[in-house]
Amino acid sequence: MGVLDAWKGFAITFTTMFRKTFTQGYPEKGKEKVTEARWHGRHQLNRWPDGLEKCVGCELCAWACPADAIYVEAGQNTDDQRYSPGERYGKVYQINYLRCIFCGMCIEACPTRALTMTNEFKLADRSREALIYTKEQLLAPLLQGMEEPPHPRRLGDDEKAYFLGLPDTGTDTRIPSRLLPAQKGDPA
Ligand code: SF4
Ligand code: SF4
Repeated sequence: MGVLDAWKGFAITFTTMFRKTFTQGYPEKGKEKVTEARWHGRHQLNRWPDGLEKCVGCELCAWACPADAIYVEAGQNTDDQRYSPGERYGKVYQINYLRCIFCGMCIEACPTRALTMTNEFKLADRSREALIYTKEQLLAPLLQGMEEPPHPRRLGDDEKAYFLGLPDTGTDTRIPSRLLPAQKGDPA
């Protein structure tokens, strides 16, 4: 190696110091969004357009999980206490984020697309209890036209009519106002 080779190396180091960096500081104001759209973050339990829960308590997600991070107990719906359109719903649902490796096997296993993953990654906490997320923490927020269960099926009187009444995939999934319970002040 000649003397000039060493100086060439120093020159590369020197010019690199003034190049734009690829790394990003965290948290960096104005650049909080650091994940790709399909990044695997915290899970979410989804709802149908009237607010009923998509989870049917089948436990397939728990069986698929290689880290044994999911615990599910199913409950039976009744006409007075209905949480999902079918027979059963997820009465207890927990994900242990001390075990989860964010592999996504659980969301692949879910037959109703009740379980999906969000981009949320800020999950650090100080206690074991705080990192075992409950159903209440995992449930999707209520969007416009949704009601907090328990409540009757709003999209059809029985299970079949309910699912036939769902909007087509890719259309506006908000519940039509004609199917919502009458509100105070609505025209008669
Ligand atoms: S992402 Fe993987 S490890 Fe985490 S709960 Fe789902 S299946 Fe289990
Ligand atoms: S999230 Fe899906 S796979 Fe898991 S219990 Fe509910 S319906 Fe079954």
